[in-house]
Amino acid sequence: MKRSKGDKQSFSRRDFLKTTAVGAVALTGLGATKQAQAQARLGMSWDKEADVVVVGSGATGLPAAIEAIEGGASVIVIEANWDVGGHAILSGGNVALGGGTSPQKKYGIVDSPDLLFSDLTDWSVVEPNGFPTYRYNDKEIIRAFADNSAPTYEWLVAHGVIFVDAAPDNRGAGATGNSALRENHAAPMAWPQMQTGKPVAPDRQATTSSGVGLIRPLEVTARKLGVQILLQHRMTSIVRENGTSGRVLGITATNEGKTLNIRARKGVIIATGGSTGNVNFRRMFDPRLTEEYCGVAGEPYSFQDASGELAAMAIGASLWGAYNQTGEFGATITKAGQIGCQYVYRNLQWMPGSPVFHLARASGLRVADWQDVILVNQAGKRFYDETAGQFTGNNYESIKPYIPGSYLNAANIKYKPANFLNAALAGTGEPVNGGGPIWAIFDADAVTREKWTVTPPYVDIATGFFSSGNTIAELADAIKNKYQRKPMPANVLEKTVSIYNSYVDGGKDPDFGKPTPKYKVQTPPFYAAWATPVLHDTRAGLRINAKCQVVDFSGNVMPGLYCGGESAGGFSLHGLARCAVQGRIAGKNAAAEAVEVSKS
Ligand SMILES: Cc1cc2nc3c(=O)[nH]c(=O)nc-3n(C[C@H](O)[C@H](O)[C@H](O)COP(=O)(O)OP(=O)(O)OC[C@H]3O[C@@H](n4cnc5c(N)ncnc54)[C@H](O)[C@@H]3O)c2cc1C
Repeated sequence: MKRSKGDKQSFSRRDFLKTTAVGAVALTGLGATKQAQAQARLGMSWDKEADVVVVGSGATGLPAAIEAIEGGASVIVIEANWDVGGHAILSGGNVALGGGTSPQKKYGIVDSPDLLFSDLTDWSVVEPNGFPTYRYNDKEIIRAFADNSAPTYEWLVAHGVIFVDAAPDNRGAGATGNSALRENHAAPMAWPQMQTGKPVAPDRQATTSSGVGLIRPLEVTARKLGVQILLQHRMTSIVRENGTSGRVLGITATNEGKTLNIRARKGVIIATGGSTGNVNFRRMFDPRLTEEYCGVAGEPYSFQDASGELAAMAIGASLWGAYNQTGEFGATITKAGQIGCQYVYRNLQWMPGSPVFHLARASGLRVADWQDVILVNQAGKRFYDETAGQFTGNNYESIKPYIPGSYLNAANIKYKPANFLNAALAGTGEPVNGGGPIWAIFDADAVTREKWTVTPPYVDIATGFFSSGNTIAELADAIKNKYQRKPMPANVLEKTVSIYNSYVDGGKDPDFGKPTPKYKVQTPPFYAAWATPVLHDTRAGLRINAKCQVVDFSGNVMPGLYCGGESAGGFSLHGLARCAVQGRIAGKNAAAEAVEVSKS
């Protein structure tokens, strides 16, 4: 199962043609289908074919593929990456499935599909910033999730996933609803972590949580059942009978510079993982999210480039639930957890043993105490209390007392409209969008306190995500990063540091209310480390219905096209649970499609 980046996929086009003896779909013998007629109209020949073609092999794609093959369909999964798993394999493996799972029952946690549905559609649940997490969820989609949530837990176990043997909790995924503990943790066992290239320590393999514990067992199961997984195959378009109408017939993909057409007799399932890595796409929802948000969580292993959404929209698909992407909640945008390299997502630190470390370039410096740095924008000015956090996630008992659907839930929260992230993304007053880079400025004493090593491979000096200077002015001059729009004015940074040092003397931060500023920035050398917020979840995508069928701009189902997970819209909920559930729903329904036979 071990592969390294750059391995060729084990299944080439030539092999396929040899084994199937068809370069194009056979149009004779069984009688021409409408698909075949349309294909002939389009002048296409198919290089490969299966009943169901799943695009993407992450938290949605693998469950979809397994369900489809168990439903009697032949299945091809195409995966753009050199290995399976997408964001899911990098994830914390915290899977928020409830509604009456066996561990909930074992540990006396009262839950039901109705309670789960009520939690995830409750208009009255708001976060301290006033944003309602679930108000704009599509009730048809959530009902399907609620009804399939507990069965999906049991299904994952039946298909090889080992969960930590403990009571469900609320640790990790967040935003799982107020009424019941629902989080389960996939045990990594001996599977190597993508982040480090190594398994976790033997004494933690069955007790900690990690995405490999979800993905690798599902990969093993899928392969055993006969799912063909084509790595380094990237879907570039979806083929529909009459362009923007009729049945979806298959996809086009590229592999090693060659284009191939893959026919899907029953259905195509889009499981491509969302859009946060596509600057233009994400800015439809939030114009602030310009290029400098370049350390998207999950990159540089797996990219959420909106390719699924764009391909489906090109043949008529609609988007859905756009508010869920604009709304500010949970970990959709996160404060940096480490600093000094491009990829600073707090729950993902790339280590030198990782197969993608050459792309990540540095591990970053974990910040134990935000008192050790000041954070400045690209103009060299502080903008908020450095110790402040980010958006919260609505989680178990986060609203107390919680009365489903009551206005008191919103009325009783302590409203906190200002937020670190809003300030970081605000910019510097110029008529340009985006907040620009955020830099952590610190001195040699901070390095000692934090026990940091400020050389590669911990920091990325070569690409300009970390710099140093013997004076503050020298430091400002040394900041050379492609996202820094203008040089940082040395006099502004000097003034910022000097004012901050005076706040340490006075024990108060009158500008931003940092609780008792502790340490001056005074001992050379001085450092500037990338600390720009990170984009994480996609919460809006293609319009789907309860069967995970994609719906067009006229509200009509697009026959033969399915979608689930982060590429699907209508559902504000972080992470793996909705992906696994929707993958299963899509796989089952795609396999059950009757292929229409031409009457002529
Ligand atoms: C560091 C990290 C930690 C996380 N921790 C948790 C957690 O603990 N709990 C939780 O619930 N959630 C967690 N999440 C979120 C969770 O991983 C995602 O929500 C989930 O994996 C999304 O599933 P998906 O199937 O939509 O996409 P993915 O799992 O990302 O899979 C999409 C796949 O599609 C492939 N693909 C994309 N475009 C194409 C194309 N054109 N052609 C072919 N293939 C394509 C990608 O390469 C990828 O393999 C975490 C995410 C990250 C990044």
